[in-house]
Amino acid sequence: MATIRFKAIEAAMSRTPREVIAPSPKISDYYGINVFDKKAMAEYMPKDIYSQVLDAINNGKQVERKITDAVASSMKAWAMEKQVTHYTHWFQPLTGTTAEKHDAFFEPVPLSDNNVIERFDGSQLVQQEPDASSLPHGGIRNTFEARGYTAWDPSSPAFVIGKTLCIPTIYISYTGEALDYKTPLLKALNAVDQAAVDVCQYFDKNVKKVNATLGWEQEYFLVDKALFAARPDLVLTGRTVFGHSPAKGQELDDHYFGSIPERANAFMNELEIECMKLGIPVKTRHNEVAPNQFECAPVYEETNLAVDHNQLLMDIMDKVARKHNMRVLLHEKPYANVNGSGKHNNWSLATDTGVNLLSPGKNPKSNMQFLTFLINTIKAVYDNERLLRAAIATAGNEHRLGANEAPPAIVSVFIGTELTKMLDELVSKVKDDKALTADEKTELKLNIGKIPEILLDNTDRNRTSPFAFTGNKFEYRAVGSSANCSSAMTILNTIVAKQLRQFKKDVDAQIKKGVKKDEAILRILKKYTIASKNIRFEGNGYGEEWVKEAAKRGLSHLRTTPEALTELGSKQTVSLFEEIGVMTKREVMARQEIAYELYTNLIRIEARVVGDLAQNHILPIALKYQNQLIRNVQGLKSILSDSEFKESANVQLEMIKNISRHVKVVKETVEKMIDERRRINKLTDPKERASEYCDVVKPMFDIIRYSVDKLELTVDDEIWPLPKYRELLFNH
Ligand code: ADP
Ligand code: MG
Repeated sequence: MATIRFKAIEAAMSRTPREVIAPSPKISDYYGINVFDKKAMAEYMPKDIYSQVLDAINNGKQVERKITDAVASSMKAWAMEKQVTHYTHWFQPLTGTTAEKHDAFFEPVPLSDNNVIERFDGSQLVQQEPDASSLPHGGIRNTFEARGYTAWDPSSPAFVIGKTLCIPTIYISYTGEALDYKTPLLKALNAVDQAAVDVCQYFDKNVKKVNATLGWEQEYFLVDKALFAARPDLVLTGRTVFGHSPAKGQELDDHYFGSIPERANAFMNELEIECMKLGIPVKTRHNEVAPNQFECAPVYEETNLAVDHNQLLMDIMDKVARKHNMRVLLHEKPYANVNGSGKHNNWSLATDTGVNLLSPGKNPKSNMQFLTFLINTIKAVYDNERLLRAAIATAGNEHRLGANEAPPAIVSVFIGTELTKMLDELVSKVKDDKALTADEKTELKLNIGKIPEILLDNTDRNRTSPFAFTGNKFEYRAVGSSANCSSAMTILNTIVAKQLRQFKKDVDAQIKKGVKKDEAILRILKKYTIASKNIRFEGNGYGEEWVKEAAKRGLSHLRTTPEALTELGSKQTVSLFEEIGVMTKREVMARQEIAYELYTNLIRIEARVVGDLAQNHILPIALKYQNQLIRNVQGLKSILSDSEFKESANVQLEMIKNISRHVKVVKETVEKMIDERRRINKLTDPKERASEYCDVVKPMFDIIRYSVDKLELTVDDEIWPLPKYRELLFNH
């Protein structure tokens, strides 16, 4: 009997939900208690220090070095009341996870009476040198110093996890180049802020700051920890490389929005409590489409904070799941033929006067503003569709994109029929060279004024669109579940910043020619609407017709990750990032190289796991079962007459041959794969290596899997070594 598998099943079946007790029935009693937020700062900091830090948070002002000692000491006082003993700079290197290096507050003082003091001062707050020389740097650190520095980011508050004070930081090289996700994100947010403020001046002179907002929706799977441990592929790659579909899959949709299984529910309760303590405003939870798949979403926040909160959430999920004897799977496609997981990035722009720039307003003027931001976003997406595709290109997401369950690998924008009509009207009514008559103007304005009512009735949603307008925000749906949102958010905010700058230039040029402001805005909006028409698609994004139609429209279809990553280093990308001041050419190219290397490494690990599981777990069991059949047939031969034997042994002979056939395919393909890998590993160009892993090695996984899954259907269930899909997916 396959001991590990059956022990795991037994363990999973015998578990009961963990008891979870909230610190208080009222969330407001413990919301944010582990965050050094504005309230805590006001309490622990001297007034003048607090107001300077506030200025840094709200307006991006630099915190003067001379006050950092005071900031550090108040932070320490607050943290030590929570029994905190260590501190760490918390940052987001290009590995995709977060990094920390803990130092004790403790400092020996040789000549004093008690020999130690608790020390944490300004210099430790502001900068650390983690000497994390193994983190990816894309060649940036080789030529200069190996050192990387972390530097305090006051715009994201410090927080406590366990006994450690975590200080959000950026991570840069000795020569100042970004080595993390955060640095370019902050620059992009700053750029879109300035560009949007400039455009807002056409409509409202009071706007001084515009924040990009992000509300993510995190999808994930849960699996019992014993079953997880019995699947080396899940442990090492986060996904199952083998496994036949269960008799029952997700076709009944009975899991979707159904009642949440008890153990999962207990997990969510504790996860939410931990999140609330850290000021992560998680609000929504429900079952997702696939069995054992769930989603959690917060109230949206300013993007920098939302990104930190998502990174923290993924971390906490893992910790809390372990307490519940479960593991959380954040991989985009843990199970073949079952829906994968994504992370919708809901995005908008909000002014410091409290206006959501993608929400229609109460009068024609504010709706002109709404149309301005709507159309400029569409134009930005149209001009940069390839880069937006590159932003979400990872080994894991490759399984989802274009797989008829997630948005296609073709980027398009959905806005709904009513807004489409509105844009059509704009195009037909506004004239390029002649002012509108008073009547025409009134009519158009009246229609523009009707947008909120139109949208109220407009319930059409398109789940197949990768970039959809959903009433008061755009939803970038193609982001992978394990991704750091920074990739998508840096690119989106950068392209919108560039587009808004262009808009301002174009409108000002018209005004300079004597065209009235409103008229100038409408003309430019018309021009953009026409120019970007091809990116708008209201139909079924999963259909084959769309692939053809998109090709006719000249939209790109970058199917694989290496192909999509090409765009990260294109001339257009480099000049975009340089122009907006988000990254230098060197930084862009380093990032591309890191992305290729990460892809190669992940596929390489998968290849090893596929090879190992196939050769050392599956084939021995298949051969064992085959031997049993052979012995059985031999036994029959000795007791039956020839004619009786022919009749009864045929089925078993077929099974024996069948096993031989699949064993041969598995064995030969694994060997071929090893040879190919040897050849590919010698290639030195990162792109070439990634492409070969994608085009040559990955297809072999499918060939091997097909035969392994057939063997799973043939071999005696009692000896099959790996937990099966029905056990992984339906054991709560
Ligand atoms: P869905 O139907 O896609 O579940 P919801 O209206 O429930 O949509 O919102 C989903 C997400 O959108 C939530 O995370 C929410 O915080 C976010 N969201 C709502 N408004 C905005 C906004 N103005 N900017 C960014 N995100 C937003
Ligand atoms: Mg959504």
